[in-house]
Amino acid sequence: MKIVLLGPPGCGKGTQAQRLATHFGVKAIATGDILREAVRRGTPLGTKAKEYMGQGKLVPDEVLVPLVREQLEGLDGFVLDGFPRTVAQAAALDKSAPEAVAVRIQVAPDRLVGRLGGRRVCPSCNALYHVMSTPPRTPGVCDRCSTPLVQRDDDKPEVVRKRQEVYAAETAPVVERFQRSDRLRTVDGEGTPDAIFQRVLRAVGD
Ligand code: AMP
Repeated sequence: MKIVLLGPPGCGKGTQAQRLATHFGVKAIATGDILREAVRRGTPLGTKAKEYMGQGKLVPDEVLVPLVREQLEGLDGFVLDGFPRTVAQAAALDKSAPEAVAVRIQVAPDRLVGRLGGRRVCPSCNALYHVMSTPPRTPGVCDRCSTPLVQRDDDKPEVVRKRQEVYAAETAPVVERFQRSDRLRTVDGEGTPDAIFQRVLRAVGD
């Protein structure tokens, strides 16, 4: 199972990627998580990525393409969350996994800012929560590993707007590219994570 999740920031890609990976027993590769971890550790990758991420811009393809190529090496299944985000990245993925199928999660644009504003993440295990719709059992603490939850810096409204612009300009053409090659499935991203997951499973033919 080789799945690419597409959709604007806040559509629920991260939540569905983690569920799909567990369901199919494959690796979830979330490029944003990998980059945030690199920034936290202050590695050379993190140093390169930090400035772009803070401004809601894309980290250059020359960084992302080799990073993902390395992640995919030797895998016979995966769920990609946050890659490809540009046509050049999509072309690179086509070389290593031409059979990958994309699932686009569709959410009305006016719902996205609220979703991102309430999002909380575990900086240790990357579990995802929302203060209203999917809160942790103990407020502010990860259910899985008890680490204090944080809000992502780039979930602030000014940066969210930039990320949405970048999506429309750079990533919408990726959606079209998958559509043209008849590898795009679209699901409604409104509703509970469980309901959306069932739609995603149907979309990938499970
Ligand atoms: P995400 O967690 O997927 O929303 O990604 C957070 C940030 O990481 C993005 O706003 C970008 O700055 C960077 N990033 C993640 N994935 C990519 C990618 N495929 N290409 C370029 N930048 C990326």
